[in-house]
Amino acid sequence: MKKILALLLMSSLILAAGCQQQTTEESEGENGENYVFDTSAEAAEEKTKEIFAMDTYMNLKAYGSSAEDALNQCENEIKRLEGLFAVKDSNSDIYKINIGAGSVVSVNGDTAEVIKKALEFSGQTDGALDITIYPVLKEWGFTTGEYQVPDEATISNLLQFVDYRNVNVNGNNVNIPEAYAIDLGSVAKGYTSDKLCELLKNNGVSSALVNLGGNVQTVGTKPDGSKWTVGIQDPQDSSSYLCTIKIADRAVITSGNYERYFEQDGKKYWHIIDPKTGAPAANGLISSTIIGESGVECDALSTALFVMGTDKAIEYCKNHKNIEAILVTDDMKIYVTDGLMDSITMTEGFSYTAIQRS
Ligand code: ADP
Ligand code: MG
Repeated sequence: MKKILALLLMSSLILAAGCQQQTTEESEGENGENYVFDTSAEAAEEKTKEIFAMDTYMNLKAYGSSAEDALNQCENEIKRLEGLFAVKDSNSDIYKINIGAGSVVSVNGDTAEVIKKALEFSGQTDGALDITIYPVLKEWGFTTGEYQVPDEATISNLLQFVDYRNVNVNGNNVNIPEAYAIDLGSVAKGYTSDKLCELLKNNGVSSALVNLGGNVQTVGTKPDGSKWTVGIQDPQDSSSYLCTIKIADRAVITSGNYERYFEQDGKKYWHIIDPKTGAPAANGLISSTIIGESGVECDALSTALFVMGTDKAIEYCKNHKNIEAILVTDDMKIYVTDGLMDSITMTEGFSYTAIQRS
């Protein structure tokens, strides 16, 4: 299952890149824009790196004289962070926190920081994001691929051990209550892409794109000064896109019910769990994409808004103008925040309703 998913992800990445170029060429060709800049883009030295880590294919691209060295450093950084966060790796911080549940565990500064960030967004989303969901996730088999639909008594018993408010972070010391367990699946890639962009910038790279299994974050613009074009996947068709958006210096992170799921008796069960019910979150959304400056924030909120569902997610967007969002409902209605109006191009056949924020 994991392999099939990985392959699907990889092919969608390739398509994403292909689509990206095609869209850019088409629109620029039609409008006659930026042809001179395009030539310079071709001339700019592009370095790329592909890595399989954190259970996904990662694709990094950087330009300029320091690009190669910076990308090598990025690879080390990805492995370092994976080593800290991987829930099943007995050397990781998260494993140590879980095995040490009930006592205080000393962890790396990055681990403490990402947990603190996750808790902050749990608070902001009324617990829709909750890294203590792990025991429930495990019961459904999402951690092993041995899927099952647990009975209600088992779920409600496990929900006793789900509550982010009982996670304590004090400096680099972390403590969770006995029988609790945490996992950073909802935020680790966004945190990692923040760190990678920081590292690239610190190495003098002013133009780069990191794609961690479809979670995209960019440094600056393309080398020719034009914005990057990112395709947002159609949740009902992995080979096509709902729309493309143009971005610079932004993260674009999607949570969808099509990424990891199983089917039983004709019903689909996916990997994003509603902490209020202990079951896959089914509150009206099948995909939620968040666009913003901070990767970890976009990752946390893509998961949280997916869980919150259509009405609450729209409400959240209305109250948080620092992020933009593309929300897709289970009846294929698409909601787009007003800040994206100038940068979005819908694929033929799709249209959206704007989320207006004065
Ligand atoms: P993906 O990493 O698949 O792109 P997400 O960022 O939405 O998608 O993260 C989903 C992962 O987060 C799940 O695989 C699981 O490990 C974890 N998770 C599931 N439900 C929740 C939740 N309500 N709060 C926090 N983490 C969750
Ligand atoms: Mg997420």
